[in-house]
Amino acid sequence: MKHHHYLITCFPIQGHINPTLQLAKTLATLGATVTFATSASGLKRVHDRLPSPDGLTYAPFSDENTPASDTTTYMTNIRRCGTESLIKIIQNSLDTGWPVTCLVYSLLMPWAAKVARDMNVPSAFLAIQCAAAFAIYSRLFGGGSIDGGEIDSSVCVKIQDLPTFSSCDFPTFVLPQNYMHSFMRPMMTEHMKELETLPKPLVLLNTFQELEQEAIKELESKLNVIAIGPLIATSNSFGGDLDNEDKNYLQWLDSKQEKSVVYIAFGSLVVLSNEQKVEILKGLVESKRPFLWVVRSLDSEEEEVKNMFDQEIRNCDGMIVTWCSQTEVLSHKSIGCFVTHCGWNSTLEGLVSGVPLIGCPHYSDQTTNAKLVEDVWGNGVRARMNGEVVMKREELGKCLDVVMGEEERGKEIRKRAWLLRGMAMDAVKDGGSTYNNLRKVIDTS
Ligand code: UDP
Repeated sequence: MKHHHYLITCFPIQGHINPTLQLAKTLATLGATVTFATSASGLKRVHDRLPSPDGLTYAPFSDENTPASDTTTYMTNIRRCGTESLIKIIQNSLDTGWPVTCLVYSLLMPWAAKVARDMNVPSAFLAIQCAAAFAIYSRLFGGGSIDGGEIDSSVCVKIQDLPTFSSCDFPTFVLPQNYMHSFMRPMMTEHMKELETLPKPLVLLNTFQELEQEAIKELESKLNVIAIGPLIATSNSFGGDLDNEDKNYLQWLDSKQEKSVVYIAFGSLVVLSNEQKVEILKGLVESKRPFLWVVRSLDSEEEEVKNMFDQEIRNCDGMIVTWCSQTEVLSHKSIGCFVTHCGWNSTLEGLVSGVPLIGCPHYSDQTTNAKLVEDVWGNGVRARMNGEVVMKREELGKCLDVVMGEEERGKEIRKRAWLLRGMAMDAVKDGGSTYNNLRKVIDTS
């Protein structure tokens, strides 16, 4: 049998490291040699939690001298350092007799595909967003698309039998008025162009067949797509968390009634305005439900907001933490709903836990994910925001009443959430679609 050596590389942010590292771990567990390469700073922050199955090693590349605030310089440097590093790893692998057999690269790293092409190494793109988002990029940025022309707000995308995606459901940076558009459009176009240089480009999707069959079918017409998700760290031993935490919150959750606690977290990047924090706090207090809320920036909060949190928290049954082990929290029996920004990892983690979701998307693919949750999968609702992208306390209260209350709609949402959990479990178990697809990756890559 062919001995595989996967070189797996990703952009050094939490939402990219978590699923990519999970793939690295899985392939190593299946007997492959895996080299995981990301920036030194990304690896440094996760070093004490890195999984270490036999066959998995880490290869950091430099990003130390680049301020992350200067996006253009940062991206240029990471491209240069990453390229040099991947070339070296591939060259060394030839010298040691364990040649890299496939380079797997993730979002924001189209240059890695070029390295693979130049060095005659097969490559695979790991799409860490939902298949529907990827299908939208493929339509809008791929060959034969409206390339060069502007995408205005009247543009819609219809994917098979899915409800039509109008522009407000697209990943936000697709539209020219979005602040990330000028940076992300060339990035996504480069990704698509790289894939189009290959006759049958391999794309690994962090989703599962039964969840997104329509979008997968659409992509299959152009690409060799294989759904191998959900890529989620289920065990406590590895989360790839970029922060330390103590785990008092788990004992606190133990003391709560089943399905009674509202869990609120907006991932690793979204920055909430003070107004939004106050509205959430007031909405939670007024709901009179116990809550666990991840507020990453509590220490650096303005005095006024800090005082308000201190005061309000005394009058309610809530706990605020700066970080937690999200997969552990979501699988705790006391969690009754997840208020989420709908980052793709969080959306999948919520889905796998069978917990109903309240989606509060801010940017990027979060809007697309929130639409799928509400209009396609039915395992949650999307909160309505006002013009400044703020979810008002009344709206939060209304959504909580829907997903946790006794009305028919809530019961149906909870039923759907549980059903989807079962589907995800079936996909990953022996003989399930994801299990079989991972085998297919090993057999064909
Ligand atoms: N996460 C976590 N603890 C927290 C908040 C987030 O472990 O307190 C993890 C979460 O489980 C997920 C990742 O951080 O795997 C966030 O990824 P996502 O795609 O949801 O959002 P992003 O951070 O990329 O916006």
